[in-house]
Amino acid sequence: MKLRFFKKGFNYSADGPGNRLVYHLSGCNLSCPWCANPEGLFPLKAGYKELSCEDVLAEAKQAKPLLFDGGGVTFTGGEPTLQFDALKTALQGLRGAGISTAIETNGTCERLSELLPYLSLLIIDVKHHDDEKHRKWTGSGNDVILANLKKADEAGIPVWVRTPLIDGVNADRQDAHAFAKLFQDLALKNASFEFLPYHEYGKPKWEKLGKPYPMQGGALPAGRYDYFKTVFEESGLTVIKT
Ligand code: SF4
Repeated sequence: MKLRFFKKGFNYSADGPGNRLVYHLSGCNLSCPWCANPEGLFPLKAGYKELSCEDVLAEAKQAKPLLFDGGGVTFTGGEPTLQFDALKTALQGLRGAGISTAIETNGTCERLSELLPYLSLLIIDVKHHDDEKHRKWTGSGNDVILANLKKADEAGIPVWVRTPLIDGVNADRQDAHAFAKLFQDLALKNASFEFLPYHEYGKPKWEKLGKPYPMQGGALPAGRYDYFKTVFEESGLTVIKT
């Protein structure tokens, strides 16, 4: 079984704890206009590489001395669950070898809970608190995502919930309260929350792919990040910055 990826390399702390070997798997089922990895959305045009699950395991075993500070292997994207069977096999192999595992997912996979026994950490995006607005901006509602988040939390797995904060999309002051209420109502026990302020790092990649950059505006007003952080912390939610 092969995993298609468009990028791999080591990264410290941003994709899970410690130093990690990170595979960016190709393809995504959502269409966020702010996507910073468009080369993962159009894999055939951008070109991609393949590795078997055995190759990934061998690379990770070889890299073990470099996976320091509680590091491990993370699969991100694009959307890693689009290659579900190969991803599951790779995670099983890594856990079997005693290597810490994480995936970073948009959370829309109906079968996500099948992966939970093989995950040391789940990083999951919740891009909007409102189902209809989530659909408007990404092409998918948030109901499956929230169900997956709850299941992972109930399974006792540490979860990092990530929200890109984008002006005009999800970053008004009332959005801060709506997000906090949503997460409070879910009564999560093992979740931490991270806000990712909008940036335009992906813009040159879209241009290189010959595609117009779909996002207009989006920059976060001054003080808005701190506002979200304060609202969450006053709601008893743990905010992290990786
Ligand atoms: S879910 Fe992530 S990879 Fe997929 S389009 Fe949205 S930002 Fe890009």
